[in-house]
Amino acid sequence: MRNVSIFGATGSVGENTVDLIARSPQEYRVVALTGGRNVRRLAQQAITLRAELAVTAHDDCLPALRDALAGTGVEVAAGAQAIADAADRPADWTMSAIVGAAGLVPSLRTVARGGTLALANKESLVCAGPLLMQTARANAATILPVDSEHSAVFQALAGAPVAAVDLVTLTASGGAFRDWPMERLVRATVAEASTHPNFAMGQRITIDSATMFNKAMEVIEAREFFGLAPDRIDVVIQREQIIHALVAFRDGAVMAHMGMPDMRHAIGYALHWPERASLPVDRLDLRKLTSLSFSVPDEARYPALRLAREVMAAGGLAGAAFNAAKETALDQFIAGAIGFVDMAGLVEDTLDRISRDCGLGNAPDSLENVLQMDDLARRTAAGIALDRGKQG
Ligand code: NAD
Ligand code: MG
Repeated sequence: MRNVSIFGATGSVGENTVDLIARSPQEYRVVALTGGRNVRRLAQQAITLRAELAVTAHDDCLPALRDALAGTGVEVAAGAQAIADAADRPADWTMSAIVGAAGLVPSLRTVARGGTLALANKESLVCAGPLLMQTARANAATILPVDSEHSAVFQALAGAPVAAVDLVTLTASGGAFRDWPMERLVRATVAEASTHPNFAMGQRITIDSATMFNKAMEVIEAREFFGLAPDRIDVVIQREQIIHALVAFRDGAVMAHMGMPDMRHAIGYALHWPERASLPVDRLDLRKLTSLSFSVPDEARYPALRLAREVMAAGGLAGAAFNAAKETALDQFIAGAIGFVDMAGLVEDTLDRISRDCGLGNAPDSLENVLQMDDLARRTAAGIALDRGKQG
């Protein structure tokens, strides 16, 4: 019996995690499940998995969650503090699958108590990579990557040291607009950007795939998690999303991780690591695969990739500022306040302004530092967007 907790259980990664765990109820005891406003679904999950605790992120959702779980014996709680406290409860395996910087606290708390962290929340590493990795080392915690590309790299490395690696290549789908003429991107709508060419994910990461902010975050994530120098990380577009990442070693061998695109592979790999268990994912049939295509992303179309390089070169709290500016730009796009192609410009201008006014260079050595930069970048980005709105 293993004790497990799932942060962001009602999201896309969370549901896939629940799916795997619900298939073997005798093997798991579920400690905590967290969600947002979808309390009905959270309550269903808590009942199905016989969870000890269910937490909604929103205080105003607590009465509904309490009603939905009345008489079941499942404890209920609400708010960011309750989510942080839930991460302190001992569990053998913890899935961090909240979207955005809000996922950082449960990730940090999990490694601070020496737990095993299955990390889908890439923002944890983008905002606070050195802090998270250092806290994990200091407490003998294990972090297992769940982002599919990073799980692929982890598997392809098979324990080889980073010194043996020439190049890690992360693959990208190219997102919803990979075949659109550039002129048309200006008019891209939220609905169009929210449709992924290959599979269903949360809305935010789907839009981030269309801008390649998602891949930009993943480049930083790879740097922080594997300790790779920025020039050892490359990105190619692999339309079919059959190859998830490649590792080129210094002896000339290249290990590619292949499989059908399904998050349950990376989640299940992290759940069963270091074993390989049978997983309910479609098998790759090479006879049905008509082609495997690769192309180099055009940085004019995807400026986010250049910004990721600049963020890595700046170091310090640049990752926290980058993520917060990106989250704000995404909020503004979803709200209809800015256009699709304006998101990258808003992020770049935010980084420039903070760099000019107070610098990005302090190391992310405490949660406080990171949250302060996060807050500053959100306010700066919102201010710039507001000024632009007035001018336009
Ligand atoms: P999602 O939007 O589908 O779900 C997010 C979950 O977080 C939900 O349970 C939601 O209720 C909760 N949540 C949202 N805001 C919150 C807040 N402020 N406080 C607490 N909880 C909050 O997201 P997703 O697509 O499952 O992605 C989750 C994370 O995993 C992201 O960091 C994403 O980049 C990463 N990831 C996702 C995929 C994928 O296939 N969806 C793949 C790789 C990595
Ligand atoms: Mg990914």
